[in-house]
Amino acid sequence: MSFTTRTIERVAKGTATSDGAGVRLLRVLGTPQVPMVDPFLMLDEFRSDDPNDYIAGFPPHPHRGFETVTYMLAGSMEHRDSVGNTGNLRAGSVQWMTAARGIIHSEMPKQEDGLMWGFQLWVNLPAADKLGDPRYQDVEPEAIPEQALPGGGRVRVVAGRFGDAVGPVGGVATSPLMLDVGLPAGSTVEVPIPAGHNGFAYVFEGSAALGDREAPLPRGQLAVLGREGDGLRIVAGQAGTRVLLVAGRPLGEPVARYGPFVMSTREELEQAFLDYRSGRLTQ
Ligand code: MN
Repeated sequence: MSFTTRTIERVAKGTATSDGAGVRLLRVLGTPQVPMVDPFLMLDEFRSDDPNDYIAGFPPHPHRGFETVTYMLAGSMEHRDSVGNTGNLRAGSVQWMTAARGIIHSEMPKQEDGLMWGFQLWVNLPAADKLGDPRYQDVEPEAIPEQALPGGGRVRVVAGRFGDAVGPVGGVATSPLMLDVGLPAGSTVEVPIPAGHNGFAYVFEGSAALGDREAPLPRGQLAVLGREGDGLRIVAGQAGTRVLLVAGRPLGEPVARYGPFVMSTREELEQAFLDYRSGRLTQ
């Protein structure tokens, strides 16, 4: 069976920035260079073993109109919202939070030293779902299936499917595929991606040649995928690689975003701010 890889439409480097109460992070998507890959609005990578870079965390803040996905690689983050939901996100776990009409929450490191490493991805909601009920999918590390590859690699399936493995996250409007692909040096994998999905790949360890490009991309590089083809070919570089591969059904709707709110029109955005100021965001 022949496999046609998607091409790489563009490559971009993450931008160092800070957010929350001064958490230093790398903004990979949602930058001036790559504002969004519909339906994905933002990808941040936080990774530091210096507590000064993360200890202040993300004190209470609102969200409306989209989903936030937190995928932890190392360390531990406590999640708490204004209506009493709470959870501890351990290394290897994922929280898929559908903020919809409103969540006010905090995301705070539960450790005082050591490596803190993970991602936060923002996924847009269709206009029709933006004021729906909030929903949490908290997934423990053990509940994320891992598919072993012939060359010694492995694929963790957070959402969507790879081979026989189906990710635990479900019922998401944009039918996302979210995979953590780990490959030893020199090995190759061809990952199917549903037709019509937009997607991107982010190299977060080692280096990898992606799609039609033969030159390996180093750690810290984002590749935006073209729309044609069966999926993505990933070839690990000399030190192996780890790649976050994310794809989803594009919404093709207008986006009005500011800070923690992502709506369809400017009026809806203003309403979100009004609701937040008057204490009605989550009602
Ligand atoms: Mn948040």
